[in-house]
Amino acid sequence: MREEVLGVLKCPACGNSPLKLNKRPDNQLEVRSGKLLCPNCAAEYLIEDGIIDFLYNANAGVLRERKAMDEDDYITDDRGDKFKITDETIKRFKDKFLVLPEGDGSSLFKKGGSFQSTAEASGRFYSAMEQLRLTGREKILEIGACFSYASFKFAQKGCSVVALDISNYLKVSSLYVEKAYFERLFSDMHNMPFLDNSFDIVFGSAVLHHSKDLKAAFAEIMRVLRPGGKLVLINEAGRGVWERIHPVYKQMEEKGFGDTAYNLLEWKKGAQAGGFRRVKIIFSSLADDYIMKYKNRGGKYTFKVRLAYFLRKHRRFESFLLWFTILPRLLTRPKSWKIICYKNAED
Ligand SMILES: [Zn+2]
Repeated sequence: MREEVLGVLKCPACGNSPLKLNKRPDNQLEVRSGKLLCPNCAAEYLIEDGIIDFLYNANAGVLRERKAMDEDDYITDDRGDKFKITDETIKRFKDKFLVLPEGDGSSLFKKGGSFQSTAEASGRFYSAMEQLRLTGREKILEIGACFSYASFKFAQKGCSVVALDISNYLKVSSLYVEKAYFERLFSDMHNMPFLDNSFDIVFGSAVLHHSKDLKAAFAEIMRVLRPGGKLVLINEAGRGVWERIHPVYKQMEEKGFGDTAYNLLEWKKGAQAGGFRRVKIIFSSLADDYIMKYKNRGGKYTFKVRLAYFLRKHRRFESFLLWFTILPRLLTRPKSWKIICYKNAED
């Protein structure tokens, strides 16, 4: 952390601000270890590896998921050896983490590889980032930042960024901050240690479906966004209104993960209940997804692939066709979609 971040922080226990920094000698880049103290309620928040830990009294669900993530064999290498995300693993696979999300074309990013889904969803990330039209002056909060490559990309644009997560996967950020600095902290997204109106943009990829209380999660995001700011969520698990819940959710639950299969109407209602009056659910290009997968997996140059390239070339025709897919996608399977919520200037 750097001392500037104290300007947006508050004590998650009592709401007091500012917090007091008690640091050990830091390196050139940031305060790597120390403590934040709340002069009001005497709560203490540890800083380790530059990450501030605000999980001081996280609820059982958060702690359970954090543990499940620590115990998960996230990476399997070419020889079939499995690795949990530890300091050692982060060093060993440094070059791979640094090329997230699209990867370097090696087997970890290809079919069956540990980063396959990240690589194949990278097109969605870059298109969402492009649509943000970042000028470099934005204050951005990334929730559920995981390895935090998105925060890194935003920081490279010059934005001032905070990456938040509950898991130790966030420690991968140490690789990125040397190149483009951003803040990192552990916190529950339902009770974030930020003052009201602190951010221009809140961004999340595949994170909010880990909430068991969408209304509370959206309300908390609404609180930390400045009036005129927006929330952008991509890669969320979203079920069609008629679609049955996939059995994988039950397996995830048993392992300790908090994934929940909300359908699109529940998403919209959750955002509105959290206080957002302008909520847009956007169905993204299926052709882009198809091409991304084709490129990554190889295979025959079929009619479908040709059609996908044709549609990508003729965007107007594609968006015309998109109209016909909206209802079936809403009811059965949304596939690639995102949700954007605006905090109005008068909210
Ligand atoms: Zn306090």
